[in-house]
Amino acid sequence: MKQKIVFLITLLTIISFNNYSQKKNTSTLFQSSPIISLLNGVMNDSLTVGEVTRFGDFGLGTFNGVDGEMIVLNRKIYRVGNNGKVNLPSRNERTPFVSVTFFHAEKSFAWNQNMNMKKFIETLDEKLSSKNLIYAIKVSGKFDYMETRSESKQTKPYSNLADVLKGQSVFKFNKIDGTLVGFRFPNYMQGVNVPGYHFHFLSADKKSGGHVLDFSSGKVKIEIEAISNFEMNFPKTEEFLKADFDKKPTPGL
Ligand SMILES: [Zn+2]
Repeated sequence: MKQKIVFLITLLTIISFNNYSQKKNTSTLFQSSPIISLLNGVMNDSLTVGEVTRFGDFGLGTFNGVDGEMIVLNRKIYRVGNNGKVNLPSRNERTPFVSVTFFHAEKSFAWNQNMNMKKFIETLDEKLSSKNLIYAIKVSGKFDYMETRSESKQTKPYSNLADVLKGQSVFKFNKIDGTLVGFRFPNYMQGVNVPGYHFHFLSADKKSGGHVLDFSSGKVKIEIEAISNFEMNFPKTEEFLKADFDKKPTPGL
């Protein structure tokens, strides 16, 4: 009997240790609303900026009415407004689309060569173990060139995102220090998130940034984490529930 109890305690210890180590090595990407919703002009939801930080310390998104580009970096949330300037949104502001994770780099390496965005992405692709996983990617350092955009807050009735982006503001920087915050999603997740790479930029002085349209890298540090879990919050709003996504998704993020 005593032996059985000792065996059981040992077994339970092994099981709980295994559970703990599994949890420790697990990363979750939390997302609120599928991207197809935003693309089709569903631009309001109820998740607050304050709540976002419960789900991650690293990521990107936007605000209700697409009121600027969101960057989540080191547990802080930044907004790049349509004037290109960065401000800190209040915790009560809401987001219709956000992707965040608690970032722990698994791989880290340094590049010190000038690469345009296309070459950079091709080289980065070679470093990934699979094209079928989601990756969180942080690139910090010097950029020879950076081109970003933001957009002005929309009012109802909302157009689709492609139409809204016809009025986007574009910002161009030469020789700028800062951080790219982003993700790579597999092509099979189209409609759920942005297939391929999606980066937002925040300058080192935290004064400028936006959704990245183009860049050329200088001396940078790249940190990558493969995501092992994906969790998505669906909006409960009438606009979302009644929207017709069966029509062809609108291109243009
Ligand atoms: Zn973006």
